[in-house]
Amino acid sequence: MRPIQMVDLRQQYEHIRSEIDLAIREVLDSCAFINGKPVQEFAKHLSDYLSCQYTIPCANGTDALQIALMALGLQPGDEVITPSFTFIATTEVIALLRLKPVFVEVDPKTFCIDADEIEKAITEKTKAIIPVHLYGQSAEMEAIMEIARKHNLFVIEDNAQAIGCDYTFSNGVRQKTGTIGHIGCTSFFPSKNLGGYGDGGALFTNDEELARRIKMIVNHGQKERYYHEIVGCNSRLDTLQAAILDIKLKKLDDYIAARKKAADYYNTAFAGNKKINTPYTAPYTDHVFHQYTLILEDVNRSGLNKYLAEHQVPSMIYYPVPAHRQNMFASFGGGGYHLPVTDRLSERVISLPIHTELDEEQLSYITRKVLEYIN
Ligand SMILES: *Cc1c(COP(=O)(O)O)cnc(C)c1O
Repeated sequence: MRPIQMVDLRQQYEHIRSEIDLAIREVLDSCAFINGKPVQEFAKHLSDYLSCQYTIPCANGTDALQIALMALGLQPGDEVITPSFTFIATTEVIALLRLKPVFVEVDPKTFCIDADEIEKAITEKTKAIIPVHLYGQSAEMEAIMEIARKHNLFVIEDNAQAIGCDYTFSNGVRQKTGTIGHIGCTSFFPSKNLGGYGDGGALFTNDEELARRIKMIVNHGQKERYYHEIVGCNSRLDTLQAAILDIKLKKLDDYIAARKKAADYYNTAFAGNKKINTPYTAPYTDHVFHQYTLILEDVNRSGLNKYLAEHQVPSMIYYPVPAHRQNMFASFGGGGYHLPVTDRLSERVISLPIHTELDEEQLSYITRKVLEYIN
């Protein structure tokens, strides 16, 4: 059996090595390392894939979130509603810009922000909502957009874990996550579903004016070279990453299918076990399984984690400490929150290996080891 990893980038690379190596060589030959042709080509292909008007590449997913908030022209002290149960980047950029993160509970089954809880957290200072499509399924976007319209708020989707996921509106219309809110953000970190071989990120919008501002912000706020309209930063996707991502984008749907197949295998193996809640997918969304995350009932989680590690099966806790309990947010009232669902999930979740290269032998071994410990 091949060694099991959380994400097997090496095996995936073996399958596309000749294409990737050729693309890298072409970039090296061109010496256009910054803003080379592949950057705009990849952005165009990604816009086509998502059916979205503007894709603006940037340096990483955290920058994408920060730039989105900058583009909306928010003022220090403005409030931004976000789940506490997420990767730190979502919430960190809010504080970095001297805005106030307001943490809201997640749905106990979907792990995504609870739309019913958003409205309760809205004040006169609320300016934006950042739903996170956690683990690869969409937050309840129709309800969230409705709340945003009613209260005149911006919506920034954190789509770092769900690129390629379809959301279905109640009228049957399907739309890719990341293109529904005013701005969508994603990451091309190597382990993401569409991952490069280094850092990368992008912003999506269908709003011409927001696209114009975002394009300026990623490039020092300049409209024309050396004429700076607004405060910006330097956040670029480099040409090598764009060339690699352009190849992997063509395979994204196959990669998603492979992840779903692995998730199906796990679901079948764990079905009916009272100590394991397998991932729930809400009816309005597809699931692209960036993570395969179980909720354990009455299981010693660190014991399971250790047992699996002893048998060469990696497992991870995403995320052991929710944002409202991070020291980082102590001065933002982090300690004052009562988010029992978030706390409960952070104590009980465990993620198993999921990637495009898992074979049946590995899946059978992993599930056997999990059940051995639990039963
Ligand atoms: C990965 C990730 C980010 C940040 O992306 P980077 O490219 O690592 O900066 C933001 N939000 C979520 C939910 C993520 O999973």
